Amino acid sequence: MTLAILGGLKKLFACDGPVVIYSASGTGAWEAALVNTLSPGDRVLMFETGHFAALWRKIADKLGLAVDFVPGDWRSGVDAAEVESRLKQDRDHAIKAVLVVHNETSTGVTSRIPAIRQAIDRASHPALLMVDAISSLASIDYRHSEWGVDVTVAGSQKGMMLPPGLSFNAIGDKAQAASKQARLPRSYWSWDEMLASNRQGYFPYTPATNLLYGLHEAIEMLMEEGLANVFARHDRHAEATRRSARAWGLEILCRNPAEYSSALTALMMPDGHDADAFRREVLARYDMSLGMGLGRLAGRVFRIGHLGFFNDLTLCGTLCGVEMGLAASRVPHQRGGVDAALEYLQGKATTASETENKRRVA
Ligand code: PLP
Repeated sequence: MTLAILGGLKKLFACDGPVVIYSASGTGAWEAALVNTLSPGDRVLMFETGHFAALWRKIADKLGLAVDFVPGDWRSGVDAAEVESRLKQDRDHAIKAVLVVHNETSTGVTSRIPAIRQAIDRASHPALLMVDAISSLASIDYRHSEWGVDVTVAGSQKGMMLPPGLSFNAIGDKAQAASKQARLPRSYWSWDEMLASNRQGYFPYTPATNLLYGLHEAIEMLMEEGLANVFARHDRHAEATRRSARAWGLEILCRNPAEYSSALTALMMPDGHDADAFRREVLARYDMSLGMGLGRLAGRVFRIGHLGFFNDLTLCGTLCGVEMGLAASRVPHQRGGVDAALEYLQGKATTASETENKRRVA
């Protein structure tokens, strides 16, 4: 079963090299990516896209890495021009890695990884590219090898539709070579023992067998639907959600439409209204838990998740709960958000090929 899972994971990550599985939440896989490739005092370049970028940065700090943390407004993705200019200035190649969160779960903003790869290449810089795809993998188009990513970090509890408890590193050749020189201490997270055991379909320590059974099934489900269709489903639900938001008159946190997330949408509360009071009301009345604003966005936004095991009816139920909750909480809004979503969903059965065309144009 493990060998089948490891083969299936390669399809999900779209990677040629190996993927390792940890019995840990995503945070463990963040740490694993760093300790396997870097040495004490190494410089890394990171971008403040939101709460999760800030948390990954904290780990890098604690491990003794020197972090160049580019400030951000928590409403935008990574600026590829900034990546290029920072790397061009780093003439002696002190920066060893560029660390990016693909889909910022705290903001609903998706950074464009191919543009970041091109920026690194334009600067002719050898830094590794590491990407957190925790809330994008198996929901939003992601291609580890084609996009030239060296390490991809992911977790089980989002697009893979599983409980929390598994996390992953997809490892490219350059990252494997870097791991031979890397001097940060590592034991549990070490790729070497894991890769050696995985070759025979085993693990160097007790794996989370129960979750592996679930992962095996999740991969089957995703393959049965087809990844292109999975991505198209998420794109369509995200667009329907944004149409609701516009009809309600609520502002979408993500500033740039090219960076809208297909996994979740964060909406801003009108001034003078507390997002957490609204979320409490929705939970109490309809037993529906909306995502809270994290970090500096606490109380100012709420998040609608539309990823994973999700269909038109679950989306419509969610949007109904939000619209009824806005009225019950006396949050200023216009009615008709659910209608706007329905109209779109009924008239627009987006196909995978349409989504693919849209992406090519973008
Ligand atoms: N990165 C992103 C983008 C996340 O959404 C999360 C959790 O939601 C994490 C990292 C941290 O993962 P975990 O909470 O599984 O340790």
